[in-house]
Amino acid sequence: MRVHVADHPLIAHKLTYLRDKRTDTPTFRRLADELVTLLAYEATRDVRVAPFELETPVAPATGFHLASPKPLVVPILRAGLGMLDGMMRMLPTAEVGFLGMVRNETTLEATTYANRLPDDLAKRQCYVLDPMLATGGTLAAAIHFLVDRGADDITAICLLAAPEGIRRLEQDVAGIQSPVSLVTGAIDERLNDRGYIVPGLGDAGDRLYGVV
Ligand code: URA
Repeated sequence: MRVHVADHPLIAHKLTYLRDKRTDTPTFRRLADELVTLLAYEATRDVRVAPFELETPVAPATGFHLASPKPLVVPILRAGLGMLDGMMRMLPTAEVGFLGMVRNETTLEATTYANRLPDDLAKRQCYVLDPMLATGGTLAAAIHFLVDRGADDITAICLLAAPEGIRRLEQDVAGIQSPVSLVTGAIDERLNDRGYIVPGLGDAGDRLYGVV
């Protein structure tokens, strides 16, 4: 698995305010949206494009558009929804599919409760959105879900990741033939005994949706 930490001062700046517990929900949502757009720039470095001919006001030129089949963007509900607009700003013609996954807070294992994805993902590049790579269980399950439907190139985009989650994901996807990448804004110190990223930013879904 390729791991890319998007080491950029603007990302560090925005992450700082996301982490701050004094940041209110509207500001948190706006910062998450802006961060995803910056991470999407890194994550789509290898998005497939096809050439086409056009005319500028001056001369013929060769341009590029997204190749077919179009990439699929998959936010993992609930918190991944807060990343969708920022991603679609960069890939407006991509298709969107949804995966609903919930983490059992005792076992920390993920189960799928909703799926609106095309059945056949053959030759599709997929971008999975989940703000927090904590234990890695949710992302690992989501990636297997996509690979089982034929996805041949998967990039997970996370705002923050824990070293334990990255290790688990690396083990879990080791047997997969398709390339899997992770793009994250930062790798934090560790997980606590409740499976939260330390120092992290708390519960991303609660902070995005104003749950107190
Ligand atoms: N999910 C979150 O929202 N936050 C964490 O720190 C871990 C999992």
